[in-house]
Amino acid sequence: MLDINNIRNDFPALHQLVYKKPLVYLDNAATTQKPKVVIDTLLEYYNKQNSNIHRGVHYLSQQATVAYEEARICVQKFINAAYSHEIIFTRGATESINLVASSFGKKFLKKGDEIIISGMEHHSNIVPWQLACEEKQAFLKIIPFNENGELIIEDLEKLITEKTKLVAITHISNALGTINPVKKIIEIAHKHNIPVLLDGAQAVPHLKIDVQELDCDFYCFSGHKMYAPMGVGVLYGKEKMLEELPPYQGGGEMIKNVTFEKTTYNELPFKFEAGTPNVGDGLALAAAIKYLEDLGMENIKLHETELLKYATKKLSEIKNFRMIGTAKEKAAVISFLVGNIHPSDMGIILDKLGIAVRTGHHCTQPIMDFYKIPGTVRASFALYNTFEEVDVLVEGVKKAKEMLS
Ligand code: PMP
Repeated sequence: MLDINNIRNDFPALHQLVYKKPLVYLDNAATTQKPKVVIDTLLEYYNKQNSNIHRGVHYLSQQATVAYEEARICVQKFINAAYSHEIIFTRGATESINLVASSFGKKFLKKGDEIIISGMEHHSNIVPWQLACEEKQAFLKIIPFNENGELIIEDLEKLITEKTKLVAITHISNALGTINPVKKIIEIAHKHNIPVLLDGAQAVPHLKIDVQELDCDFYCFSGHKMYAPMGVGVLYGKEKMLEELPPYQGGGEMIKNVTFEKTTYNELPFKFEAGTPNVGDGLALAAAIKYLEDLGMENIKLHETELLKYATKKLSEIKNFRMIGTAKEKAAVISFLVGNIHPSDMGIILDKLGIAVRTGHHCTQPIMDFYKIPGTVRASFALYNTFEEVDVLVEGVKKAKEMLS
């Protein structure tokens, strides 16, 4: 069992008042707060180690290079990738997906080809594929989901044709909380020799990820949703896939040799890391991973599952409460509406009570269109949230309902 009160002491941002009320931070699917070890790692880097890495002859550069490559190994072990060169540092999940969509699209997409995504994707896992398809006159096909917010994966077999080039699916939906049956999806796609990209932005902070066990071809996530800083993320790709893809951006670091006649590219992972990397945030990402590993992903999942159960039960007792996303397999995300109250009105009142939630379409407009709603209020939980905070949320929703009805 996690000692949550002790854990909360690791997160300076949690101990503040907003509008003279203790902050109840329930916007973790948007970004998590950072533990002190992560902030200290950043400070330490900029106070002492700061220098440009790779090819540096001087002491600081060599130290920073070693630390950055150790951070890569830390990520590799965390998601159990086979090799550290299968870990590409990016700005975040969005850039990771854009990288694959652009490079994969350039190399493998032809006129009339198809990419399959699902109806519950974040815009980050829709628009890059639309751009790639537009360029090559290819098509997007969509796996539908049911009223509970569960993918109808029987439809995947029907959608696959000999023109299908890739399947790109979110591991966990940020708007519905659904944990998708990604292993099954990968099995189906691989039966037809189709590679699969998983958007793991919402999964990595909550589940133990093993990319070899999943057998996914690409896995993408952001540091800032897993207690690390903003501006750093990861693309995992199977060595064979990454070797085949052309570079995404050109510049320093990604080359082996440049002449005006012909440039040859660097080996993995550097082929995909043009320009000066975000060293400090990379080191801080490794610090966040170590923090999570010390707590244990299984323990985190247990705690968050209990929070989800408790919050679901308590909120459901409120009259006219409607939960959007009631999948059997769910992460600790609760999207909801109460009666006819507009989600942003609810959000504004909760904010004045010190409760940080997100309102709107959560960058998943097709989901909102499916339910024919303008948006939802979303409370999303992290390892440091408490049952008392759930009680504050429930009381807050009741109060807002009273004021707005
Ligand atoms: N995918 C999902 C499921 C997300 O929730 C998010 C962030 N809300 C993203 C992708 C994009 O992440 P980022 O903005 O950190 O690149």
